[in-house]
Amino acid sequence: MLRLAIQKSGRLSEDSLKLIRECGISFITSSLKLKTESTNFPLEILYLRDDDIPGYVADGVADIGIVGENVLVEEGMQRLAVEQLGFSKCRLSLAVPKGDSYEHISDLQGKNIATSYPKLLQTYLDEKGVDANIHTISGSVEIAPSIGLADAICDIVSSGSTLISNGLREVERVFSSQAVLIANEGLDAEKRRVLDKLLFRIHAVQRAQKAKYILLNAPNEKIEEISQLLPGAKSPSILPLAEKGWSSLHSVVNEDDFWEIIEKLKEAGAQGILVVPIEKMIV
Ligand code: ATP
Ligand code: ZN
Repeated sequence: MLRLAIQKSGRLSEDSLKLIRECGISFITSSLKLKTESTNFPLEILYLRDDDIPGYVADGVADIGIVGENVLVEEGMQRLAVEQLGFSKCRLSLAVPKGDSYEHISDLQGKNIATSYPKLLQTYLDEKGVDANIHTISGSVEIAPSIGLADAICDIVSSGSTLISNGLREVERVFSSQAVLIANEGLDAEKRRVLDKLLFRIHAVQRAQKAKYILLNAPNEKIEEISQLLPGAKSPSILPLAEKGWSSLHSVVNEDDFWEIIEKLKEAGAQGILVVPIEKMIV
C-alpha cells in the first residue's frame, strides 16, 4: 500500500484528484475525511495542507505527494522531486505599486519586500547582487504596500489580476512553478513497484493530453502526400471508403502543431477532418 499526500483544499486539490482518477484509480472522496483508500489500486490518499506535504514525505509519514515546486524549493526539499505534472502552473514574481518608478532590479536595493517565500526571494536577490530587507508574512501579501508594510512584494501570480486589483505592477519573475510528484527517498521494493506502476499510468495520461487522434478522408492519389504530413505514432492507418477512389486516414498528432498540420492537410486535398481527444496513450 502506497500513501499519497495531496492538498486537502486549495488550488492543487482538484487537479491532483483528477490526475489520480484519470489513472483509473477509484476512491470515494469526502470533504470531512482525512484519508481514503482506493478500491482498485494499492493506494491510500492523505489530505493535508500543502506546506506540510514535503515534510511528511521526507519523514515517511506519506510515501509520495503532490505539491507546488514553489513550496518544495522554499522548504529546501528539491531532492524529493520525481516528476513535473504540468498543472497548477504559476510564477513567483516581484511587484511594485503601479505609480512607482522601476527600471531595474537594483532599484530594490535597500527596500522592504514582503513575501511568503523568503528563501526563493533571497536566492534570487543574491543572484542579482541586490541587498533588500525581506519581511516574511504568511498571507495577504498583496496588500502590504498599501498599508505601508513594504515597498514591494514577491508573490504567486497566475493571471496577474490580483496584482492589478491591488494597484501593483509585476516587474520581475523570480521562479516558475508547477505541480510536482515527490517521493520519499527510502521506499522499499514493494512501494517502489507500486510507484512505478502509478508513474506508468501518469505517463500514459500525460502523453494523451498532448496528443489528438485525427481522421480524414482523402482521394487515393493524395494518400502519400498526406501521409508525409502525419507523423503519427507510426504511419497512418488507411481504410478504403465505400466511395471508390477514396480512403480514410487515421493518425495521431501533437496538439502543439496540429493547427499548422491541418492547414497543410486541407491544401493537400484532405476532407472531413475530425480531431478527437485521446484518453490514454501507451507507446
Ligand atoms: P493550504 O491551506 O493547503 O496551505 P495555500 O493557501 O497555501 O493552501 P493555495 O493557494 O491553495 O495554497 O495554492 C497551492 C499551490 O497552488 C501553490 O503553492 C502554488 O504552487 C499553486 N498556485 C497558487 N496560486 C495559483 C494560481 N493562481 N494558479 C495556479 N496555481 C497556483
Ligand atoms: Zn499552504
